[in-house]
Amino acid sequence: MIIVLKPGVTDEQIDHVVQRVESLGLRAHLSRGTYRTIIGIIGDEAKVQAEPLAAIAGVAQVVPILPPYKLASIEAQPQPTIVDVAGVKIGGGYLGMIAGPCAVENAQRMDEIAGAIKAAGANLLRGGAFKPRTSPYAYQGMGEEGLKILRDTGDKHGLPIVTEVMDPRRVELVYRYTDMFQIGARNMQNFNLLTEVGQTRKPVLLKRGMSATVKDLLMSAEYILSEGNSNVVLCERGVKSFDPATRNLFDVAAVPTLHGLSHLPIIVDPSHATGRPDLIPACALAGLAAGADGVHIEVHNCPEEALSDGAQALLPDQYAALALQMRALAELLDKTISPSQPSRAAQLQGAAR
Ligand code: PEP
Ligand code: MN
Repeated sequence: MIIVLKPGVTDEQIDHVVQRVESLGLRAHLSRGTYRTIIGIIGDEAKVQAEPLAAIAGVAQVVPILPPYKLASIEAQPQPTIVDVAGVKIGGGYLGMIAGPCAVENAQRMDEIAGAIKAAGANLLRGGAFKPRTSPYAYQGMGEEGLKILRDTGDKHGLPIVTEVMDPRRVELVYRYTDMFQIGARNMQNFNLLTEVGQTRKPVLLKRGMSATVKDLLMSAEYILSEGNSNVVLCERGVKSFDPATRNLFDVAAVPTLHGLSHLPIIVDPSHATGRPDLIPACALAGLAAGADGVHIEVHNCPEEALSDGAQALLPDQYAALALQMRALAELLDKTISPSQPSRAAQLQGAAR
């Protein structure tokens, strides 16, 4: 950390800063330039990060050298983290292809959608049982019944499942059913929730809040990592903007930015980022081209009847066409789509042979 002092700082003020630094068990290296005097702090930077040194008279600026997200940073771990979701790998050259409806609605619909996305090459099944809705009057999800349907459908089709948890009090319940927790954009800074999933060892898909900076996202990931759960996958899902042309503003540059700052995998969600089926393919491919470790897409077999986010859902055929392109791009980029388990029917067929 470097402390930049104000022009005209007095010797007493400099002494005071040096004393404060030394009282924290660190060494201070004073450097008097022609225009500015700076103090370099030598020792464990974490000890001073929490100190309000900028409030000391004569201090102009406190410049940290290390990022505050210690565990999530690339400095902490230069090699990429590979998160294993019940056998499906995400990160370090492996792509997570997450697809499914916004909400779990009923068993038959879930079964049809899962069969279609599996055939198209998806390796993880999504579906919300607890839905974070802007309106309290909008569909809130099936709750535990939805978790059961999602679990059964995933098992039948050999697809590990991803589902959202919104409330720290429900972590235990969702834990019993899911292979990966999703923390939605609206809950990215629900610190109690982050701490709670951090205390498990189940993978977490952490979505970027709609007004969150890249640093905010990494600080939220840090909450989970600091509890001991290192299985975190980040997700860029668009941020709020002035322009109503798309539901959110897809920040594709966040992908290589995060890869430069962190070892954690980062996937893209063009469904929530754009809110428009016609834009999803271009943004999915752009995300992969930018280095994303996976793509999260909402698929519904009858969007006009969907209980949430129907207008942004891809039809199974549209998803299949996009999946072909994503697979071709993955090959070009030398990425592997980690295979999921064969479906139960395929397993039985194999055993009968
Ligand atoms: C979702 O995945 O259905 C969802 C609500 O996403 P987000 O939290 O990104 O809005
Ligand atoms: Mn949705």
